[in-house]
Amino acid sequence: MNDKFHYECTDCGAAYDAGSVMYLCPACEKENVKDQPIKGVLRTVYDFSRILKKFRADNVYDQLSKESFLSVLPLRDENCLPRLKIGNTPLYRINPEVLEQPDQIEKTLENNHRKQRSDNRRKPGKSLDFNLFFKDDSQNPTFSFKDRASALVSAWAKEHGIKTIVAASTGNAGSSIAGICASQGQHAVIVVPAKAPVAKLTQIILYGATLIPVDGAYDDAFDLSRGLTQRFGWYNRNTAFNPVTIEGKKSVAWELYGQLGRRVPDRIFIPVGDGVIYSGVAKGFEDLMNLGITDRMPALVAVQSEKSANLIRNLERPRFVSKPARTFADSIRVNIPRNFNMTRQYMHQYNGESILVADDAIRKAILVLARRTGIFSEPAAAAAFAGLLKYRELGLIHVNSTNVVLLTGSGLKDINPIKSRLSIPQPVEPTSTAIERYLEKWRNA
Ligand SMILES: [Zn+2]
Repeated sequence: MNDKFHYECTDCGAAYDAGSVMYLCPACEKENVKDQPIKGVLRTVYDFSRILKKFRADNVYDQLSKESFLSVLPLRDENCLPRLKIGNTPLYRINPEVLEQPDQIEKTLENNHRKQRSDNRRKPGKSLDFNLFFKDDSQNPTFSFKDRASALVSAWAKEHGIKTIVAASTGNAGSSIAGICASQGQHAVIVVPAKAPVAKLTQIILYGATLIPVDGAYDDAFDLSRGLTQRFGWYNRNTAFNPVTIEGKKSVAWELYGQLGRRVPDRIFIPVGDGVIYSGVAKGFEDLMNLGITDRMPALVAVQSEKSANLIRNLERPRFVSKPARTFADSIRVNIPRNFNMTRQYMHQYNGESILVADDAIRKAILVLARRTGIFSEPAAAAAFAGLLKYRELGLIHVNSTNVVLLTGSGLKDINPIKSRLSIPQPVEPTSTAIERYLEKWRNA
């Protein structure tokens, strides 16, 4: 066994030396079929007793942070990590009063139908006596949470002398690894559904990656990228399939613990598509528990759109059944959640929670975020916030509790869903009279 870590199969529990396998458990991989979540996803397990021997017991977190958490990463040399600033994103404390009367925001939009619907809704009147934090991962170099995974995948490839990385993506993972590879002198090959948002496709090309748009869904892109790995030996970044992605994503748990003053929050709202971010957050806090840094796992809330609920709706089913996902929140539009088995395990083990939100609620959450906090989130990220709003409406946010919302991507990644709800005014004649007339009209609107 590798002295630092080994892999354990999520499904059969088999243990593998870190150097003996790169992606899935070889035994379970043979059982994989097209319409089911992947079997054989590997979990990276560290020798925690060995790590603890290295550090003073009363100060493990600080000592680990001094060495860039290298002891709990599948990496030997931190110089292989990209120089771009990845992670350590802002954690904003938000006054919960911004949540008051979110329907008022909707009324400012020119859409009578929607106005009527929101007027009829129950007015939120629940307690605002709780702590609210937004973890803004749109501040990563390529503007999404995916940079956490890409950074580690890129570093791993560099450490092992691999120059080309291939990825299937709905857009964010692809634009992320394309940007990170550009910073590391590596080449990225990205397979995406041709219908991915144009901003993400533009990013991929701009960063110099080879873009392969396929006339199909993400699931097709996933299979095709695996074929390219087999054929050319390119390192595969596919989410869940590559165990390193989860190790990168877990870094957010370590950061949250530090940013909250060495405390674990009570609840974290996480947008869920494939389930890898959920598993990553759980794995991060599990590491902290294994090292005796904390004895508590926060309540992790998986948030999905009602129109893309293939993870939540299958949690209790004996056999996975997929329903075509149709949400406008493209980053979490997933027919077969790749990391379903691991996410379900974490949810069962640590009393994970889940909530479905309507696409209308996601649109509203985008507006509340933008107009009340100045954060422009992409739909998938706003879904996590919509989850918190729904929890509050249902009276599920406890007084004095600490709640974190993971905002996983920038709104500029895909402006179409929200652009259609706003009307950009016609140009005004460049005279002060015309401007005054315009402002008068605006005041009376
Ligand atoms: Zn296995």
